[in-house]
Amino acid sequence: MIELKDVRKSFGSLEVLKGVTLTVQKGEVLSVIGGSGSGKSTMLMCINGLEPIQGGQILVDGIDVHARGTDLNKLRQRIGIVFQQWNAFPHLTVLENVMLAPRKVLGKSKREAEEIAVRQLTHVGLGEKLKVYPSKLSGGQQQRMAIARALAMQPDYMLFDEVTSALDPQLVGEVLDTLKMLSEEGMTMILVTHEIRFARDVSDRVAFFHKGLIHEIGAPEQVIGNPQKPETIEFLKSVL
Ligand code: ADP
Ligand code: MG
Repeated sequence: MIELKDVRKSFGSLEVLKGVTLTVQKGEVLSVIGGSGSGKSTMLMCINGLEPIQGGQILVDGIDVHARGTDLNKLRQRIGIVFQQWNAFPHLTVLENVMLAPRKVLGKSKREAEEIAVRQLTHVGLGEKLKVYPSKLSGGQQQRMAIARALAMQPDYMLFDEVTSALDPQLVGEVLDTLKMLSEEGMTMILVTHEIRFARDVSDRVAFFHKGLIHEIGAPEQVIGNPQKPETIEFLKSVL
């Protein structure tokens, strides 16, 4: 599981996370919603050690992410992260792009890496696009390729940061369908999203972020369906 204990994070004098405490159990889907600049992306970066923290602790299966001596490369293999946009290598095919990390990071043979990549690409519905170059894919297909690439590392956890927000509206659905499939397969996921209806549909719990703190957290029917805090109500009004 992923545990955050009173996590504090600043960029210079700007305190972005002001004491975030949160536990995500194995198999759980947590959606994180909240206004722009509230610290959602920063939290994801801290969880897989892409950013240092100034206070508190983050544990992934008991391993202290920010402790001296923690092997961050090893840890990051277990935590896949997908962003709004991923720049694939344009001169490599979709298949070759997804093979890269299993080859280079996991040290798999070419045959094994190809097998993994084909499996994951087929899984996200890109089985017909293996030999195509990334520039020939739609935005939704590119995001699914990014998801396949993360899955090819066989992670225990997946972090998604607004993976549909750069997409044309008609392409959002296919990516959300992929996320939903992963959730149904039992993947442990933290999902930063503006797709409130989707969050309500797939999440076990929803956390509303406000000014660097988890302002409200609970079942989707509570936080989205019956929010208690004025800030949550205000935010939901602005996005629904
Ligand atoms: P969100 O994802 O909720 O929109 P972020 O976590 O991206 O919010 O950002 C939270 C705050 O931290 C913002 O004020 C943002 O400008 C600031 N911030 C984010 N990354 C950096 C950085 N690398 N350097 C300085 N400030 C940053
Ligand atoms: Mg963000």
